[in-house]
Amino acid sequence: MKKIKIKYVKKKEIFPAFGLAYFETKIIYIRDDLPKIAKKFVLAHELYHIKDYENLKSKNKEYKVVLGELKANFFPFLKDPIGGIFTLFLSLNPSRIKFYIDMYITKKTKFEDLGKNIKEK
Ligand SMILES: [Zn+2]
Repeated sequence: MKKIKIKYVKKKEIFPAFGLAYFETKIIYIRDDLPKIAKKFVLAHELYHIKDYENLKSKNKEYKVVLGELKANFFPFLKDPIGGIFTLFLSLNPSRIKFYIDMYITKKTKFEDLGKNIKEK
């Protein structure tokens, strides 16, 4: 099994995302400008995504994006509620709210678009 790699990147590389997880390459990108407590929670969130994906794949089950997001927020939140609340507060700003709307409601933003500014893949 491929090892998970974690890379810290500049804000502009993945903004407005805080972190990104690529299931096939198992690379996680996290913004290096985030406060330490948020970086830790975002990392737990992205690691959860990869484990969840692997688990579903091993059972030949389909990965559902919205459900995957809910689980990747909920379970790490139980382990680190302070980090979860802190990260939630960081998300309460117009650029993040627009990001959620563009990703999950209007679907103007595609997952593939998010990593297009990453320098080192
Ligand atoms: Zn996520």
